[in-house]
Amino acid sequence: MFRNYVKTSLDLNEFNKKIKDAPEGQRYCNAFCQKYMNNDEFYDGKANCKECYNQLIKARKMIDNNQLTAEQFKEDPTLVPREKTVIPVYRTCITCEEELTLDKFEATRKECIQCRKNKKKINYEDQFKKYKEGIEEVKTDITALSNLLKAMSVDLLKLVVRAKCYHLK
Ligand SMILES: [Zn+2]
Ligand SMILES: [Zn+2]
Repeated sequence: MFRNYVKTSLDLNEFNKKIKDAPEGQRYCNAFCQKYMNNDEFYDGKANCKECYNQLIKARKMIDNNQLTAEQFKEDPTLVPREKTVIPVYRTCITCEEELTLDKFEATRKECIQCRKNKKKINYEDQFKKYKEGIEEVKTDITALSNLLKAMSVDLLKLVVRAKCYHLK
């Protein structure tokens, strides 16, 4: 979403390459810095460092309020000052109904990252229970078992593998 505002952003392919080659404990800021920086200079799950992120949030707010156009900001990002501190822009999570700062949300989500994580976990556990029964039923029939495993998502497979490992102990 921010890519529209930042001329220097790498495209997804190039950025993925940077992520793959990242030195231990470092991440790549894909906004104005365009370099590797320490993990603690980033908010969780963000592809830009905190300073860039704060600047972008502020810019978006100014664009929303017609104080600035996206084109102006794109041409000259210094129109919006950089700040180290979190700008308190809040959004209310539709699930836990808590008012949280924007860094607790993925860009376009109305549900906070934590709630989404919790939900995903619950879903996988539910699905896993169903599959587990199926696996028990067909475990002596290799063809049926491999068909069943093929139909599962990677995350579910991880749970199965983990469960089987515990089983062996
Ligand atoms: Zn940055
Ligand atoms: Zn929430």
